[in-house]
Amino acid sequence: MEITRRGFLSLSGVIGSGLVLSPLGIDLKPMMAYAEELNKMNRIKAAKQSTTVCSYCSVGCGLICSVDKLTGKIINMEGDPDHPINEGSLCAKGAGLFDTTEANKHRLKKVLYRAPMSDKWEEKEMDWALKRIARLVKDTRDKGFVTKNAKGELVNRCENIGHLGSSNVDNEECWLMSVKARALGLIYIDHQARV
Ligand code: SF4
Repeated sequence: MEITRRGFLSLSGVIGSGLVLSPLGIDLKPMMAYAEELNKMNRIKAAKQSTTVCSYCSVGCGLICSVDKLTGKIINMEGDPDHPINEGSLCAKGAGLFDTTEANKHRLKKVLYRAPMSDKWEEKEMDWALKRIARLVKDTRDKGFVTKNAKGELVNRCENIGHLGSSNVDNEECWLMSVKARALGLIYIDHQARV
């Protein structure tokens, strides 16, 4: 069955009004997905658009951020075609920036903990998690802290903890993390984006 754009728009209205065509053998899923996409495009056209820069790495790709004027919420983020660095393209991290906003209903909001050897996740309070991390870091560091090397030179370093940064943190967070890791005397410091 061939459907023109005009016919499709009328049809999507019919679908929206609740008429169910699937018993007639018409698969409505692609049409509903297309209608949803058109609806999103209309909302983006009416939104307030601001340019911004990807927070993740020093390439500094440009993005357009669309904010719904009524709710003040971000409804879309995409590469800025007028930006001289990326000309609209984004790597997978930048393209996933929108999913880090509250629009992503699957975003984790609670700490999930899986005990050693367990196959179950438990919900925990943030305070519990921070205290446990601090305890484990302190105990491990106390066991692996080296004040002098084999030549008797002062080194003050922690050799039994490694720190791997996440690709889901921005430049400022990376800076804070590396300062914290160095303050603890860590020497094995790396970042997932480099690996
Ligand atoms: S993380 Fe990707 S999208 Fe972001 S600035 Fe770097 S290359 Fe560009």
